[in-house]
Amino acid sequence: MGREKMRRWLYILLVIVPCLVGSAWIVLWQDEQQQQQLVEETRLFANIHKNDLDRFLSETTARLETLALIISKHMAMLKEEEIHDILHDMQKQDVRFERISFFSESTTAAMQLAKTTKRTVIDSHHTTTIVTPIIYEKTNETAGFLVAKLRTNYIQNRMKIIHPDASFRLYDENGAILMSTNPLRPSKQTVTVHLNNAPWMIEANVPSVSIKQKMKTALPYILSLIVFIHIIWLFIQYWLLKRQTMIERMETEAQKLELVGTLAASTAHEIRNPLAGIKGFIQLLSEKHKDNESQLYFSVIQNEITRINDIVNEFLILGKPTAQKLETCDLNSIVQSIHPMIESQAHLHNVVYTFHRADVPLPIRCSKDHLKQVILNLAKNAIEAMSRGGQLTISLTKQNDWAVLHVADTGCGMPKHVKDKLFQPFVTSKQTGTGLGLVICKRIIDMHKGTIDIHSIEEKGTTITVRLPLQ
Ligand code: ADP
Ligand code: MG
Repeated sequence: MGREKMRRWLYILLVIVPCLVGSAWIVLWQDEQQQQQLVEETRLFANIHKNDLDRFLSETTARLETLALIISKHMAMLKEEEIHDILHDMQKQDVRFERISFFSESTTAAMQLAKTTKRTVIDSHHTTTIVTPIIYEKTNETAGFLVAKLRTNYIQNRMKIIHPDASFRLYDENGAILMSTNPLRPSKQTVTVHLNNAPWMIEANVPSVSIKQKMKTALPYILSLIVFIHIIWLFIQYWLLKRQTMIERMETEAQKLELVGTLAASTAHEIRNPLAGIKGFIQLLSEKHKDNESQLYFSVIQNEITRINDIVNEFLILGKPTAQKLETCDLNSIVQSIHPMIESQAHLHNVVYTFHRADVPLPIRCSKDHLKQVILNLAKNAIEAMSRGGQLTISLTKQNDWAVLHVADTGCGMPKHVKDKLFQPFVTSKQTGTGLGLVICKRIIDMHKGTIDIHSIEEKGTTITVRLPLQ
């Protein structure tokens, strides 16, 4: 899959999908919140109306009962017309009554009920009326009834004034609608409250939230979510880019090393043959010219040829590790065998050299000569880092399944720019350095499935740790 295509898929997966899912969730959440708020609001208004109605009913009942009591006390003195007059006056004073009438006989079921219970009855049958019986105190008999017809539209108007848009309905005990404000609107939810002073119930529709309103409240949240997810996306992209560059850099390094290795190895191979020829002929010549001066020159030439041969051998290792002979050796004895070489070098540079063997054998499967090369390279670097003398310590230990070699010096340490580029070919801080020593070391250690770690502090010294798997 192309990188661009993968990026597009990642964008869809990490940005578009979370944005869509998040937005849908926000809309639903906001909808629920608003709906809840509207339910609370509607319940509040329904309760206001309920209290209003309860108060209205209790007030009117109290008035009628007081009146019934007064009339019952003066029944003997009052004519029926006089009672009608009183009632008429009262009705004019109170807007809540549409009509108040006096009946001497019971004509409706409500009156019959009032008669038997001797209590005020609220009758919601045809029109909303309150029936209060007039009872003689002495005989406890019903002398008549006060029947007040209520002005329901007055209550209805009050409801409308308080909450003009709401849709309320008042039901009686039989479920018949006594009054309603605004026609029924489609609604998911309704709220009901029961009156205290009558077996009635108020039902209110909870208005539903409009899409526009929903979007308006959800939009700021959705925008914040989009911005937030995009910021995260930017971070992810930055991280991906960094990772990509790192991989590319490593690939180029590996390619470079590969190329250099093959080139060096093939060139070295080609140089070795003519070099052997030259060496042979110099040998012949040296046997021919035995005078001192010539012998001096020949020995210089032979030394130089040996040096070239060493370099060429180093180059050969850089190439593909082909014919390497693996054998099981004790790392202690490998280091021990090059002990004199290191010691003489150290002595030359005024460096005190110490070697600590491991107290157990360290058998490893290795190419002996290659490992010697590693130790020599590391020791050479260490000695070169201590131009004013110092202390070189090589120690061997066993750690679990590993043979561990420490090469520690008290030299100049590595500057950061060198540390960052260690193990890259031709990185050197020395005038005559090749910058190949550590590269070769790493290659040989990799060949042996080991690791190499460098710990270096400037002006303090460097410790190089090599770990090799034990047999
Ligand atoms: P060269 O020795 O030819 O420069 P190397 O690969 O052996 O190449 O080392 C690379 C660089 O690493 C050196 O030039 C030096 O700057 C640094 N270096 C290696 N070993 C040490 C050490 N023990 N102390 C300080 N610097 C070191
Ligand atoms: Mg070196």
